[in-house]
Amino acid sequence: MTFVAPTEDILFSLRHVAGAGSVDGWDDDLADSILDHFGQFAAGVIAPLNAVGDRQGARLVNGRVRMPDGFGAAYAELAAGGWQGLTLPEAHGGMGASPLVAAGVSEIFSGANHAMQMVCNLVPGAAAVLLRDGTAAQQAEWLPKLAKGAALSTMCLTEPAAGSDLSAIRCKAVRKGPAWQITGEKIFISGGDQDMSDTILHLVLARSGGAGLGGLSLFACPRQSAVTVTRIEDKMGLHASPTCQMTFDAAKAELIGAEGDGLMVMFTLMNHARIDVALQGVAHASHAARIARNYALDRVQGRLPDKSPARLHLHADVARMLDRQDRLALGARAMCHVTLVELERGKRPALVDFLTPLCKIAGSQAGVESADLGIQVLGGYGYLREYGLEQIWRDARICAIYEGANGIHERTLATRALRPGGGSADFADLIGELAGHDRAAMARLADWKNRADRMRHAEDALAQAHAFAQDTVTLFFDAVWTRIAAVADKHPQPERIKGLALA
Ligand SMILES: Cc1cc2nc3c(=O)[nH]c(=O)nc-3n(C[C@H](O)[C@H](O)[C@H](O)COP(=O)(O)OP(=O)(O)OC[C@H]3O[C@@H](n4cnc5c(N)ncnc54)[C@H](O)[C@@H]3O)c2cc1C
Repeated sequence: MTFVAPTEDILFSLRHVAGAGSVDGWDDDLADSILDHFGQFAAGVIAPLNAVGDRQGARLVNGRVRMPDGFGAAYAELAAGGWQGLTLPEAHGGMGASPLVAAGVSEIFSGANHAMQMVCNLVPGAAAVLLRDGTAAQQAEWLPKLAKGAALSTMCLTEPAAGSDLSAIRCKAVRKGPAWQITGEKIFISGGDQDMSDTILHLVLARSGGAGLGGLSLFACPRQSAVTVTRIEDKMGLHASPTCQMTFDAAKAELIGAEGDGLMVMFTLMNHARIDVALQGVAHASHAARIARNYALDRVQGRLPDKSPARLHLHADVARMLDRQDRLALGARAMCHVTLVELERGKRPALVDFLTPLCKIAGSQAGVESADLGIQVLGGYGYLREYGLEQIWRDARICAIYEGANGIHERTLATRALRPGGGSADFADLIGELAGHDRAAMARLADWKNRADRMRHAEDALAQAHAFAQDTVTLFFDAVWTRIAAVADKHPQPERIKGLALA
């Protein structure tokens, strides 16, 4: 099954559901042209490597990672097209495009080839870290390289004893004159090495002070420092994305931001990455939906009540699954876009913090659920490699685990986010805005507010965290669908959207 970028759905969602036009610098025609252009590039150059990468995988050869065949050449084209610098300021060699357009590009990239996207797409977050907290010299050193693709970047947090709990990080940073040296081990680092870019900027969270999160600082460490990849993991999916175990042996590094502020500085990168992970899930949901619908439109099996031969999509149960896939993709995408528009407007930062985990949970779940439904729609062929759905299912599964396991986000929602100033009041306002104060939606919102009040005082809040987070995700999902239905006529296929809204 060939990959086709869901450009019309993405533009509809950004413009008409999320209201991208209200953000300074948004340009409808430019967005159209960028997404169309990238969609064609992704379909023609990146997507054909997806199955190859899955079969071949990345390999560790003499201490260096070798990407699968074709990845280097595709990356060179990507970089030459300026795509790596899409959102970086023009003054640093980038294109200065809107992060909202970049979200569309990123989703298309993930749908075409999640493994390659992962290795390339930590760059916008790393650039944001440098722009906010880097010195002028650090910006001058790294931003042009990142913009033109000479450097890729990584996010080095996880260690054997520090996964969800980063306060257990042991990697040590010691000051040596004006520079620093990092010593220790990191595991599970995506793109910890590859042979596509000239160099790599490792952003490393390491301990420069005492115990706990306050002792952590963030460092910029180039690949050419004393950094060694000791193994790459053998995984369920994403075989082309090298997940690296790395040793830092007094590796020379520079502090980014203030000493002890490591986690805060890293949050710039992590918040970007969380929405990006949500969109990876959306990309899988959308791609799986397309494969399944195309198959079901074609495959003849069984008969209609009038005894004529039926195509699969005409069977009520198959139609149910196909509609659910589409609804998941469109709804979770809209949640991400609404959140990104809020982020760009910059008026309700606490709301953005509240919505980000909801997007992460919804997007990651949508990817796996849609892939699973797609497999079911195809029957035996869904279980085979031929149609690519089993790869989507394997690749999509990671989204609920990395960038904070979903359980950790659910915990945050049920506790910190419900405290005064934690964004829950803004969230309630947003639900009203999205649902156009529809009576049924307002009744559900009233129930949710009562539940949130009880959660604030519950002794067993953590035991209820999963159920509460899932209900909160559903409230947001249903509200964006009310909004999608209200603007369905703006979609190039209004009847499809209206049908889905009723499904
Ligand atoms: C393919 C892949 C790519 C990755 N890329 C990167 C990368 O580029 N950079 C990087 O730094 N890391 C990366 N990671 C690591 C990833 O972020 C971690 O796996 C993730 O944070 C979870 O940590 P853990 O695996 O140690 O699981 P654990 O922390 O052991 O958690 C296991 C389970 O227990 C639950 N749990 C843990 N603590 C609590 C708690 N206090 N309360 C309730 N539940 C809890 C979690 O929700 C989870 O379900 C990657 C991992 C993979 C598999």
